[in-house]
Amino acid sequence: MRGHAERLNGLGTTIFAEMSALAVATGSVNLGQGFPDTDGPDSLLEDAIAAIRAGANQYPPGRGIAPLRQAIVDHQKRFYDLSYDPDTQVLVTTGATEAIAAALLAFVEPGDEVIALEPYYDSYAAGIAFAGGRRIPITLRAPSYRLDLDELRAAITPRTKVLLINTPHNPTGTVLTDLELRGIRDLAVEHDLVVITDEVYEHLVYDDHRHIPLATYDGMAGRTVSIGSAGKTFSVTGWKIGWVTGSPDVVTAVTTAKQFLTYVSGSPFQPAVANALALGNDYFDGIRATLQSRRDLLANGLSDLGFEVHRPAGTYFITTDIRPLGHTDGIDFCRLLPERTGVVAIPTQVFYDNKEAGRPLVRWAFCKQEALLQEALTRLQKL
Ligand code: PMP
Ligand code: GLN
Repeated sequence: MRGHAERLNGLGTTIFAEMSALAVATGSVNLGQGFPDTDGPDSLLEDAIAAIRAGANQYPPGRGIAPLRQAIVDHQKRFYDLSYDPDTQVLVTTGATEAIAAALLAFVEPGDEVIALEPYYDSYAAGIAFAGGRRIPITLRAPSYRLDLDELRAAITPRTKVLLINTPHNPTGTVLTDLELRGIRDLAVEHDLVVITDEVYEHLVYDDHRHIPLATYDGMAGRTVSIGSAGKTFSVTGWKIGWVTGSPDVVTAVTTAKQFLTYVSGSPFQPAVANALALGNDYFDGIRATLQSRRDLLANGLSDLGFEVHRPAGTYFITTDIRPLGHTDGIDFCRLLPERTGVVAIPTQVFYDNKEAGRPLVRWAFCKQEALLQEALTRLQKL
């Protein structure tokens, strides 16, 4: 048989699968792949069980069931004062991952350049490759991991079609500021670019930082593909219910691609997520407060162990520099860490094209119960 297509070259096995398998094989505390070790609210879980018993087990409508589309519209209005029509401006997807892939397939022609913030979530590289696009990274540099708008401007060429933005940003925890978002808007309008914005960590923002959706800026409504997901907000990463909002043309284009990827998404989870999106502010404030205190626990502990710690403004990941501990390469460090200490982390380098910028960086997930974070810190004392 002849070999696989070139578009798979370099994709290998995702680091998350590799590191979670290593965690299981070595009995390690897994602070690698980002998934919570407690499930979402009871009402959410019960609603999905009830939906299965009530027969929500066949194909739902292609764009998602009407109550979920309405709940997404209400959520965008309530938190951001954004208005959408539930029939033409919302699409339910199989997680944000499918939304990203479908959006790239919908807008990228072979040879088009897609500018993405580096380090980037690994499915971006695959999605761009599947669409035949060229990935152009803009590096968020240590120690602040801020976006350099001059660098972004300089990266735009006549072949640039899409800006792929992620805020709050995995893995650095950067939450883009109003100034940075305005800068992105100005460049997108000036160069007539499509902006795909992955905002799955929208509710996981700490201290006095604030998430501002790109779609709220003048000039963005017609060119923005906004992506959300229930996975992070409601601690159900395995349910894979995500969504896209945007102009009717944008949503139709993404739907056209999505219908031939999965056709439809998770029937019994849709009514449950619809109800969860309408939970009171106490839920959204609660998850933020819980995660903020876990961030502080892990950040302080890693700092006491000697790592240089970047305290994230959002997401549930902490990036550390391992050089103060005498190490230089995060991949070597993370491969040996389970055996040496019984803890798994992710080498951030794998999310960079510019490998040097990420070489000494390691990512730790803090969406875990406090006792487990404490256990990880105790184990890491062996370093
Ligand atoms: N985008 C980012 C930045 C992520 O970290 C993740 C995490 N898994 C996803 C998208 C994927 O979300 P989902 O599980 O809803 O596909
Ligand atoms: N988004 C999660 C992370 O960054 C996990 C995603 C995955 O396993 N594909 O760790």
